Amino acid sequence: MGTIKVLLISMPWASIHRPSLALGVLTAAAELCEFPHQIDQLSANVRWVEYIKKESDGKLGAKEFTQIADNYFLGAGEWIFTNALYSQKEWKVKEFVEFAKEQGVNSEHLIQMHKLALNFITDLANEIVNKDYDIIGFSSSFLQNVPSLALAKKVKELAPDKLIAFGGANCDGVQGVTLHKNFPFVDFVARGEGERAFMELLDTLETNSPLNKIAGICWRNSLGESIVNEDTAAPVNMNNVPAPIYLDYFKILESSGLSREIEPELILEASRGCWWGQKHQCTFCGLNGSFIDYRSKSPEKFLSELESAVKRYRVLDVSLADNILDMKYYKTLLPKLAELDWDLRMFVEIKANITREQVAMLRKAGFLTIQPGIESLNSRVLRIMDKGVKGIHNIRLLRDCKSEGVAVTWNYLYGFPEESPKDYSMIIKQLPSLVHLIPPMGATRVALERFSPFFNKPEMGMDNLGPSKVYSYIYNLPDEELKDLVYVFESSECGIKGTVEQNLHNGIRQWHNSHKGSTLNYIIKGQNVVILDRRKNWKNRNITLKKGGKLKLIWH
Ligand code: SF4
Repeated sequence: MGTIKVLLISMPWASIHRPSLALGVLTAAAELCEFPHQIDQLSANVRWVEYIKKESDGKLGAKEFTQIADNYFLGAGEWIFTNALYSQKEWKVKEFVEFAKEQGVNSEHLIQMHKLALNFITDLANEIVNKDYDIIGFSSSFLQNVPSLALAKKVKELAPDKLIAFGGANCDGVQGVTLHKNFPFVDFVARGEGERAFMELLDTLETNSPLNKIAGICWRNSLGESIVNEDTAAPVNMNNVPAPIYLDYFKILESSGLSREIEPELILEASRGCWWGQKHQCTFCGLNGSFIDYRSKSPEKFLSELESAVKRYRVLDVSLADNILDMKYYKTLLPKLAELDWDLRMFVEIKANITREQVAMLRKAGFLTIQPGIESLNSRVLRIMDKGVKGIHNIRLLRDCKSEGVAVTWNYLYGFPEESPKDYSMIIKQLPSLVHLIPPMGATRVALERFSPFFNKPEMGMDNLGPSKVYSYIYNLPDEELKDLVYVFESSECGIKGTVEQNLHNGIRQWHNSHKGSTLNYIIKGQNVVILDRRKNWKNRNITLKKGGKLKLIWH
């Protein structure tokens, strides 16, 4: 075939605040192939923002993009590109607008973007086919499926000789098989972790060797039939995963002028899988797909990747894509990061039951924001989730983060089987006393996700009523296919509803309103402790606690 030329694409609605980790890792992996291949990247998510901004005279832009990208369960990002996928001027507009209204969402921007999607895809496809790429590869996660399929289809229509490859979380397990079966313009699908399959695919095409040896891919025979190779036997060793190489993102950001409104960050990964989930997968969580086995990079490898990335891209904001931080890192990687004194501003997801010393270590290492998966403040509900923490651990973590200057992002999840109004009434009453701590972003009813224990075992209490309603406005497929393609499912409403649900939302809203300016500090005066209560809606007061007695409590 000669040197294979590949264009890797990240479509909307991948975050525009960072390059695509998947594209970065695949590009780096291609350098490890036996034969040389040419890889280019296209951050089409940023190009889309540039496009909607221009076409709407600035009425649409990064802010409107992010609102849609952040609302995964609404599915608007997928619906916006349906007309491009089905080559129609518009697709189920009335139905989707009605659906969005039911969810309390105004559709004005969604409709404007829907009208722009078809031309965006056509223009981009023309641009791509005019270049001499052999393979057009799409990384599809979360809301990227329909935008990716729409562009892939148009490219294939214009240039049938271009090979189309898909990978990413939307292609994990049976989803990848179903995508390949139902969208004949997709030549290859890599199911699960993609870098190994990608490398083998490039070298196999280069040498014209049989494709049936590449584990984890779907491909087509001469009749165009879908052939499904066996699954990958084992997850990749993280010490064999190369550091991502980002080619176009920072350049596109600069040339589009969006760098003035978007503060970019780097994205790196230190681990994959979940060490907690390996033993006690949280009952609602489908995040790890088919490989939950926890693997992490050696601290030395991660540190050297971080150093080169920061120097190469000259960005100090760094997000880790990890689902959960390796506990060993508190003693290995974090002290080393702390010694460096690099002024990094990093983000990572962690398990909530860590000590105050570990919170302090995170701060010293540069992790200024963490996502600890708090989910609830009630021990019984946390037990239903199999979270492995109690309500008090979560409160303590919020307190310790406030004390150490670490920001926390979290969400209150509710609607679990066997939870009861009693599990919430006490918490709702206590919320006003927590206003000095960082509030959750909101409260969300738990959804039934593929790969989660609730999904795999309906006897746990969440029945599966079929693919989420939103998909009927997005895919033109029978339920029989849809059920193997999609990630979110309908389930009978469990747990709290009505007044209790409303009270939870109200309590969290009030927490937000009262948080700014609320503090609850202490000072030590001799052998006593004086608590300075400056919480909003509370009487300003100083409470002196004398040695012994209640004083012991506040040190825990
Ligand atoms: S919610 Fe977090 S801790 Fe729980 S299984 Fe999923 S990734 Fe692991």
